[in-house]
Amino acid sequence: MELEEKLQMLEAGELSFSRLEEQLGNPNLAALVRRKYLERKLNVNLSALGSTIIDFKELYGRNIENAIGAVQIPVGVAGPLRVEGDYAKGEFYIPLATTEGALVASVNRGAKAVTLSGGARAKVLRDGMARAPLFWTPSIEEAARFAEWARRNVEAFRAAAKETTRHGELLEVQPFVVGNLVWLRLVFRTGDAMGMNMVTIASDRICKLVESSYDGEASCIALSGNMCTDKKPAAINRLLGRGKYVVAEAVVKAQVVREVLRTEPHLIHYVNSAKNLLGSAAAGSVSFNAHYANIVAAIFLATGQDAAQVVESSMGYTWTEMRGEDLYISVTLPSLEVGTVGGGTRLPTQREALSLMGAAGSGDPPGANALKFAEIVASAVLAGELNLLAAIAAGHLARAHERFGRAKH
Ligand code: NAP
Repeated sequence: MELEEKLQMLEAGELSFSRLEEQLGNPNLAALVRRKYLERKLNVNLSALGSTIIDFKELYGRNIENAIGAVQIPVGVAGPLRVEGDYAKGEFYIPLATTEGALVASVNRGAKAVTLSGGARAKVLRDGMARAPLFWTPSIEEAARFAEWARRNVEAFRAAAKETTRHGELLEVQPFVVGNLVWLRLVFRTGDAMGMNMVTIASDRICKLVESSYDGEASCIALSGNMCTDKKPAAINRLLGRGKYVVAEAVVKAQVVREVLRTEPHLIHYVNSAKNLLGSAAAGSVSFNAHYANIVAAIFLATGQDAAQVVESSMGYTWTEMRGEDLYISVTLPSLEVGTVGGGTRLPTQREALSLMGAAGSGDPPGANALKFAEIVASAVLAGELNLLAAIAAGHLARAHERFGRAKH
């Protein structure tokens, strides 16, 4: 009865479609009324979208607007995958949310080969989330003076940022001058958070400090000047890093390559050179790998990362060498943007997926969980990359897709 009454009020324009949470004082009821309104108006059935364990009270004002329900994505696990990182130590099951048949099987087989060979070694080489406000100055002379002033005032910037966050810490100011414009690429440590909101708030505070204390002429015209670079492919992230700059490697024994991957180490090495290196170079690619995005996207969806950041998080290089009869393989992801607190990591299913790897919530010390998670992601990428290269080398790729992706029902 209450529902029908609210629906009629919405249809009559007495309630606002986008302000229902406020007007009804109940985000779950708001989602239901909105969904029912659309069902009636568009003559569609949205009951599957409405079937969710999500409590919209928890998400309102943080994660979603105009809520009507939730989409479900199947989750599979690959593993166990042995990882010897600085933070991730032991065997892990990797949650992958995907509808691409063969993906979980691919990472799973790669994980088996890596684990049987003693595991993956993983390491985060750099850790810093960047925001780059853009400043206008009247001349190249003033631009150069302002960039130099910013370089000398890192301590003051750091203190201003500290007023806005407990876990965020300004590490570095990287000024870039183009004509009369200046970008200050501000790089922060962000604890266990991916950090985009945190560094945006802190950067805003720094911009205000700049405008009130710089004795020349420099005005902030965009809090994000695209030199950050968020959610766009960019060479700057590849070179300087953004989020976690993480590497993983393994020496895969020749016998394991033969028995598990059904091919030869030198053939995998050849496929990597011809496809990932030469092929990518010839194509003018910004990323030299076979399918990092597959693994990164599936883990991001399972664990509540910002899905749009798959763009830069999946950039990277796969490198192989022959070590006697065995195969050395490494993956390098210079811009892996991950967190274990904040954003979508708070949602119940995503949090469980993180807990599967012992990486949910705050680490001890803060930041340790996000570093551990980054090492696991890189190791899973290594497993996926190894398997796909091996499948190509063995000519298995087409058959795997036939078997897992085209099952007849
Ligand atoms: P957030 O949830 O906005 O911030 C993290 C929060 O967790 C902070 O309040 C932080 O407190 C707290 N926290 C508690 N324990 C922590 C720990 N151990 N380590 C770090 N923080 C801890 O998350 P965020 O990572 O900054 O931002 C992620 C969200 O930003 C995502 O939803 C993403 O989609 C969105 N996003 C925003 C922009 C933007 O421009 N604003 C761009 C892209 C994506 P303290 O700050 O006091 O430490």
